[in-house]
Amino acid sequence: MKLEKFNYTSISDDCVKCGKCKPVCTIFNINQDEATSPRGFIDLLGAYERNELELDLNAKNIFESCFLCTNCVEACPNDLPTDMIIEQVRNDIAKKYGIAWYKNLFFFLLRHRRTMDFLSSLGWVFQTCALKLDKEKQSALPRFSLPIVKKDRALPFADMRSFLRKYPENILAKNKILEENKKNKVAIFIGCMSNYTYTNTGDALVKILKKLDLDIMIPKKQLCCGAPAYFTGAFDTVDYLIKKNIEYFETFIDEVDAIIIPEATCSAMINQDWEHFLHNQEEWKQRAIKISKKVFLATKWLENNTKLVELLANSNRKIDKLITYHDPCHAKKMQGVWEEPRNLLKQNYVLKEMSDSNRCCGFGGVTMQSEKYEFAKAAGLPKAYMIKETQAQIVSAECSACRMQITNSLHQANVDVEFKNPIELIAKALD
Ligand code: SF4
Ligand code: SF4
Repeated sequence: MKLEKFNYTSISDDCVKCGKCKPVCTIFNINQDEATSPRGFIDLLGAYERNELELDLNAKNIFESCFLCTNCVEACPNDLPTDMIIEQVRNDIAKKYGIAWYKNLFFFLLRHRRTMDFLSSLGWVFQTCALKLDKEKQSALPRFSLPIVKKDRALPFADMRSFLRKYPENILAKNKILEENKKNKVAIFIGCMSNYTYTNTGDALVKILKKLDLDIMIPKKQLCCGAPAYFTGAFDTVDYLIKKNIEYFETFIDEVDAIIIPEATCSAMINQDWEHFLHNQEEWKQRAIKISKKVFLATKWLENNTKLVELLANSNRKIDKLITYHDPCHAKKMQGVWEEPRNLLKQNYVLKEMSDSNRCCGFGGVTMQSEKYEFAKAAGLPKAYMIKETQAQIVSAECSACRMQITNSLHQANVDVEFKNPIELIAKALD
């Protein structure tokens, strides 16, 4: 699978070397080397395209150290798409060096939902042999170190039943009041992490939609959006997952008002990156665009299309918990969503902003969480200290990748703050 959208040399020529991207760059902040800065990546990619740079192990190492946080794109006066050219070169890296066995296994499972379901249930049965579970915090500590997971690391754990297996495909509203020109039916795309580990998020979303008297559809054959494979350069897997999902979504897209997703990375992948990925497959691209028009991050759709704010305000429920909100890179920078979750939360909670809610949490993708974990750890600690400074009891973000990373960063920094998706907090306020 070859993408030929970006010309590295012309992007490199468009870089005016102003350096505005460097202070905001997640990797440059922890590895102060010009080579691992947006300007450096762009320069090196230009040289690679002109055959002046070999894609050797050193270059591989450099291009795999980008967190794909998009901070640089926002800061760049020329909007240069550093994140996308890194995504593109990672496919060349995958082709030249192959993909590690455990990532290949993971991507195989993303393509085969039934096997993943089976292994997840098996994992639920046996996970206590390897993990000490903290159900309150929905995290676990390994009992022993493994080559890719150190013992002191907080991890998510599998739930007994996945979200998709817990509910029927259609849940009809009880007291349905039909609004004019509205179908009043919403589909949920859950995302792999909320499907298998943070299942409370999906439970909370169902609860909110029931309170809003909407018909709910939980499409059972949905597959992973493809984001983990996309960020790793495993483009054959991405191509497979996108096309399977498009074919499936087309069977119900005209019946629903929206497909809502309580996950920033999955919603950004579906409503933006699918189109980028399919740029040279015109027919598939148009099909992806049609679907993307109905795909929204959950808080954005709920705030703009329902009476949820009113419902929360009228509940007169003030919950005595101080919340701080982290802006996932894929929510604020990619989808412009930051006001909506805050507006919903502030109806019932007190919000206190952290000093830099935009600062990337440091998740960075599968490679960053495995081979480059030390970078992820270093990028996560400042966020944990920032959360501590607010004295909040709960940190919230609409993203399970941020949840996994921030939960571990808080653990590493010995900061006792709980993490909740805003959807869980909103559902609690409706109790
Ligand atoms: S995407 Fe993030 S980590 Fe990568 S170059 Fe841009 S700012 Fe740096
Ligand atoms: S901000 Fe943009 S133009 Fe300026 S150095 Fe960075 S990539 Fe180049």
